[in-house]
Amino acid sequence: MKKPKVAFFDFACCEGCQLQVANMGETVLDVLGLIEVVEWREVMSEKWGKKVDVAIVEGSITDLHAVERIKKIRKRAGAVIAYGSCATIGGVNGMKNNFPLEDIKHYVYGDSHRFFPTEQTKAVHQVVPVDYFVHGCPVYIPEFVAVLKAALQGIPYYPPDYPVCVECKLNENVCMYDRGVSCLGPVTRAGCNSWCINNGNICYGCRGMVSNPNEKGAKDVIAKYKIPMELVLNKMNMYNKCRELD
Ligand code: SF4
Ligand code: SF4
Ligand code: SF4
Repeated sequence: MKKPKVAFFDFACCEGCQLQVANMGETVLDVLGLIEVVEWREVMSEKWGKKVDVAIVEGSITDLHAVERIKKIRKRAGAVIAYGSCATIGGVNGMKNNFPLEDIKHYVYGDSHRFFPTEQTKAVHQVVPVDYFVHGCPVYIPEFVAVLKAALQGIPYYPPDYPVCVECKLNENVCMYDRGVSCLGPVTRAGCNSWCINNGNICYGCRGMVSNPNEKGAKDVIAKYKIPMELVLNKMNMYNKCRELD
């Protein structure tokens, strides 16, 4: 039986999400047994250059060259999976959008800035249609496997649309607010099994915001614990600045 052709592509990112695939251990062999990987710069030098059934796209779109490239990939792909926060919500690259573009160009590239025509950061779906989203920085591998299976079967995958707090409570963690630390769990999309809080950290909002965040509830909690709103908003901008472009 012909295996579906799958290709990995990367744009502006740290490539940490692709590394997560490499870290899958034995599961990677099960997954790779079902597909034919035809392009993957991190692990192979071949360039397929033709149609693929599934394109797994990591990274944000941050310049015009990337815009042209992602449009070409979209035309070649049966389904596009945006893979990791950089691709699904702009992620940490979106912090660039906190500042005027001209200032950023001069600050990063100095007098050579005209050789680096950078643009505002965009998530992949803000440039081309995306069929599947695997959120997270890095991605949560059980969710990636579920999304890839759905893409290979041509059925939809709906990421959870309730807050990380739900998973956090099920995992019986002590709330970070009770420790005097702010946490973005109340407004952030679940699906990572409250990964960071389970390991003693806070939620930084890397999976993006739920579609209908309980702003009043979040504001009440922030006020109750006397946490400056500006601090919370700055934390939110670390991953979620590109949402303003939706
Ligand atoms: S989402 Fe995070 S881990 Fe993944 S590529 Fe972007 S910065 Fe790296
Ligand atoms: S605010 Fe953070 S620590 Fe508290 S329940 Fe929600 S996710 Fe857990
Ligand atoms: S707990 Fe928050 S920051 Fe950590 S992986 Fe989940 S959504 Fe991302």
